Amino acid sequence: MDQIKTQFPIFANHPGLVYLDSAATTQTPSVVIDAMNDYYTKTRSNVHRGIYDLSEQATAAYEAARTSLAKFLNADREEIIFTAGTTHGLNLLAYSLTPKMSHRDNVVLTRLEHHANMVPWQEMAKHYGFTIRYIELTAEGELDIASAEKVIDANTKIASFAFVSNVLGTVAPVKKICALAHARRALTIVDAAQSVAHLPTDVRDLDCDFLVLSGHKLYGPTGIGALYGKKMLLEECLEPFFYGGDMIKTVSYTGAAWADLPSRFEAGTQNIAGVIGFGAAAEWFMNLGWEKITTHERKIVSYALEKLTPLVAVTGATDPNKRTGLVAFTIPGIHPHDIAEILNQDNICIRVGFHCAEPLHRHLGIGPTARASFGVYTTKEDIDRLATEIEKVKTIFA
Ligand code: PMP
Repeated sequence: MDQIKTQFPIFANHPGLVYLDSAATTQTPSVVIDAMNDYYTKTRSNVHRGIYDLSEQATAAYEAARTSLAKFLNADREEIIFTAGTTHGLNLLAYSLTPKMSHRDNVVLTRLEHHANMVPWQEMAKHYGFTIRYIELTAEGELDIASAEKVIDANTKIASFAFVSNVLGTVAPVKKICALAHARRALTIVDAAQSVAHLPTDVRDLDCDFLVLSGHKLYGPTGIGALYGKKMLLEECLEPFFYGGDMIKTVSYTGAAWADLPSRFEAGTQNIAGVIGFGAAAEWFMNLGWEKITTHERKIVSYALEKLTPLVAVTGATDPNKRTGLVAFTIPGIHPHDIAEILNQDNICIRVGFHCAEPLHRHLGIGPTARASFGVYTTKEDIDRLATEIEKVKTIFA
């Protein structure tokens, strides 16, 4: 991992950059940029439509990306739907799965969800009258299984939750919650936006019904993501949400019949370069290998906690085994925006605010936080620079 920064052009273009905002978006390695560039310079054409070589080559690259994502998630190819990202996937699911629900039903979320896994359900609840329930957190910021057992009941139709919290870094017991929900005949949705670059994702092993992710959090391009769904559910439970070209089998003046999976959910011309870049990112990431990735991550998270805990108030667990690659924190008496601005003067990028999880911050009784988040390119030296700058911030505001 020592030399990995050289694979990312951003670091050559910004010598001395300390990029600690990978939970917001990761940087992009050259292989991903090259794959997208190849599409634009060598095979640019629409997919699934042309009877000419160029279009067939573009289609092959597009479908190869689907194969890569299927391999990455241990799914079948037809179970991978390309979306614009996690938010798109969650909206698609919320719109498609709720119309038959009523005031007797409930959807279960958790206290730590990102707005993307909260607002779509709240909006659908206004239309269909179902209630929303929340799984509580333990003092360490983990999902409380006893609470999950209570809130998921015979009227729960869907349990939708984040694999990894984008504020606390805690990991959900996905298998346990899926088993619990299935025992009550509820569908399960995993928001894997923050987990895919940090923990292996095997949808068969997790036994989740649906899982959503974003390419840009996995070293891929922005504006692209995927929705995984069990084949039987995609075929029988999920209604298409977008209608148009490429998602139909036949159309008459009075109606249409849907195309087979996965085209049924990919109406219109897709983000072809994005899909190809996403596939390249998944391949590149798989080639790094989980052992290397997780060993590096453990090292960086432990070191960050060791350096930061004496300096700041860490949000959530301080046990490195209880979190993935991020640390949110506050410094009493100093606004997080001031911290970020001073860090920025030294070329250090962190995120501050509510991190699209405002209800969680209010639930924890805290205001906005600063968040340092890590990627495969994060080094101990990056953490040292962060710690030194935080000390400087503290002296400025002392
Ligand atoms: N869920 C979680 C847990 C996230 O961290 C994010 C991104 N911050 C999202 C959903 C939304 O992802 P996107 O903006 O890529 O749609």
